[in-house]
Amino acid sequence: MKKKNVDLVCDIAELISVFDAREKDKDILQSVVSTVAWHMRAAVCSIYIYDEEGKELTLRATQGLSPDAVGQVKLALGEGITGRAVHELRPICVGQASKNLWHRHFPGIEEEKYEAFLAVPILRGLRRIGALVVQDGVPNYFEANDIKALRAIAAQLATVIENVQLLSEAREEAESEEEAPVAKKVMRESIVRGRSASPGTARGRALTLGLLQHESCILPDPAAPMHTLEDFATAIEKTVKQINNLQRQTSEDLADVAVLIFSAHLLILEDEQFTGRISGLIQDGTPAVKAIPLVVNDYVEVFSNSKMPLIREKVLDVKDLGNRLTRNLLAETADECDYRGQIIIAHELLPSDILKLSAENVEGFIVSSGVTSHNAIICRSLGIPMVAVGRELADGIADGEELLMDAGQGIVYLRPGAEILSKYKELDAAREALHKASDVKSKTLTKCGERIHIYANINLLSDLELARKFKAEGVGLYRSEFPFIVRNDFPTEEEQYGIYKKLVDQMKGKTVTFRTLDIGGDKMLSYYSNVHEANPFLGMRAIRFSLQNTDIFRRQLRAFLRAGADGNTRIMFPLIASVDDFVAARAIVHECMDELEAAGIPFSRDTRLGVMMELPSAVEVVDELAQESDFLSIGSNDLIQYMLAVDRTNEQVSNLYLGHHPAILRSINRIVSAARAQGKDISICGDLSTDPRMLPFLLGIGLKKFSIDIVNAPAIQRLVHSFTLEETEEIAETMLGFGRISEVEAFLRARKLEAPQAV
Ligand code: PEP
Ligand code: MG
Repeated sequence: MKKKNVDLVCDIAELISVFDAREKDKDILQSVVSTVAWHMRAAVCSIYIYDEEGKELTLRATQGLSPDAVGQVKLALGEGITGRAVHELRPICVGQASKNLWHRHFPGIEEEKYEAFLAVPILRGLRRIGALVVQDGVPNYFEANDIKALRAIAAQLATVIENVQLLSEAREEAESEEEAPVAKKVMRESIVRGRSASPGTARGRALTLGLLQHESCILPDPAAPMHTLEDFATAIEKTVKQINNLQRQTSEDLADVAVLIFSAHLLILEDEQFTGRISGLIQDGTPAVKAIPLVVNDYVEVFSNSKMPLIREKVLDVKDLGNRLTRNLLAETADECDYRGQIIIAHELLPSDILKLSAENVEGFIVSSGVTSHNAIICRSLGIPMVAVGRELADGIADGEELLMDAGQGIVYLRPGAEILSKYKELDAAREALHKASDVKSKTLTKCGERIHIYANINLLSDLELARKFKAEGVGLYRSEFPFIVRNDFPTEEEQYGIYKKLVDQMKGKTVTFRTLDIGGDKMLSYYSNVHEANPFLGMRAIRFSLQNTDIFRRQLRAFLRAGADGNTRIMFPLIASVDDFVAARAIVHECMDELEAAGIPFSRDTRLGVMMELPSAVEVVDELAQESDFLSIGSNDLIQYMLAVDRTNEQVSNLYLGHHPAILRSINRIVSAARAQGKDISICGDLSTDPRMLPFLLGIGLKKFSIDIVNAPAIQRLVHSFTLEETEEIAETMLGFGRISEVEAFLRARKLEAPQAV
């Protein structure tokens, strides 16, 4: 029998026009798949529906596959031929499915006999609704005309499916109301998916803290008692005491970055205008619990609209202060004044906010403006989970709602049930066991006994304790910018020297690699420049900033050199784009050395100077860079961003940020080969080295030094130990031969290089 595509499209149109919204959605979808299968003379026709939140396709109707598969077969976006068609928003027609790289076999649904495969996405504009799929036993059965016909049907189906979904939701709600009126208020557990910024799990109640919005920071309790002026004065006293304690504690724990971070709180409290206005309102009969937010919100308004970034940054401080004053007024304990048991939802946060909220025991963060790399890094150092979610999703989480964050996966469970909670308890215990410091060995060896070196990435001085615990062989990257970011002005040479010296002393002779200031991009210093850049990642960043502000650069270099006087230290420059950049930076280092020598200040002439390989232009001149410098370090986080032109902080394109892209594999290989050819030291300090799928490749191209978030050391050691060098070389050679991302992915899948036990 011949296919009758024109009849098919007409029949579907008719079917849809008579579709009665009261019918069950299953019925209409089932009629569509039967009609399509019949007219196309195809053995199978199926419809999958896409769940935007879960980013998942579910089989909803089928003619030809096992009926038991309906509702059971699920595909992630991009998974299988169908998932790929929906992901890429285009039809995919395959002559022999079993030979296709993307094919995904589901046992038990009886599709193995169907080779020809045509998947057409069902779209509404660019919005994904689902997929219409036909299959047949005759290879190469579907042709260009079939694609056209199926596209026409998919276009008509989009609206129907949307309507069906809306109606069935309304129906479900009505039914549940009829059946169980009492249960109506009990909302079901649900999931918000975002992007992981800092791993870990956290449990707590949601508390919104929109930094630059004007919503009330406190909900006054209408039943609260009237407080006197004396009560208010006592609350101020208690608040001052608590803040002084917090400042003392953070200055001890985080000496490098926590300098006077609570000073704005104290200044505002001392401001007569602030406390005086609240007192005035109380005197005039306004309940104190209302007077505080009234004045606080006025300040929030003024601060938010200030032209000066430094003032705008104080919005969180004044809100935080308002909360503390209110709670102290309500005679709650000091413990209840902080953020324990709470997960903060904020549009944006500053690194200093993160430090303050961490000192106040916050459990986790959900942010909706995208995550700056520095925020992610500081949260990782402090061990606070952070997830970035879309603005609408964040707005959908109500204050007080119970949350469970699995930040490593970028998932937030709203109102988690007992089952999820207990699953996470187990998972947490398993993860803890995986990262047990006692499991770390002093030497990292491959299966064949080759020595590999594990160094620590240090962001805050407090990371040093972990570096020692996890037996780091040195510091492969010290991100020097945090003391700059958190302060209100550039730290002096002496202040910097104090911090760097601690770092060198605590590493007790092991190599310490200082990276010069890497600001700009997604973090400018609010006290330095207010210039708005259209493309900050392509602007005044990292070494460019240092070479343009040589007084600041020199101050930092002198502090590094002095701190390394008796140590084993190296200095490396971020975002080097040319040999000329490196030569210019090196010349300034040499000038600083000469100055120190002339002044009789001790330093080490042996301080080695290196290049961070983060830009495509640097890869092109890597031979010359290797020749000029003492060492190279691969900054894969930025290298991926700049090679692929994918903003590392932009959630919308995070699916394109691929460390296994063939261009990245080849570039990294080129860097390693160039360094080895010149006999120069080569290491990697970006996150790619803790991706368990990539580690064998990195070993296979000859990398032997890895600078990582050191808690991953036990897992990395285990993984390294599971391969011989020969095996990794074979893996690397094969991976370097691929020109397509899909080929690399298929290879990684086939080799099962997605080792679940790692990192
Ligand atoms: C990198 O880019 O890989 C890197 C280590 O530097 P950062 O993440 O600080 O930009
Ligand atoms: Mg970088």
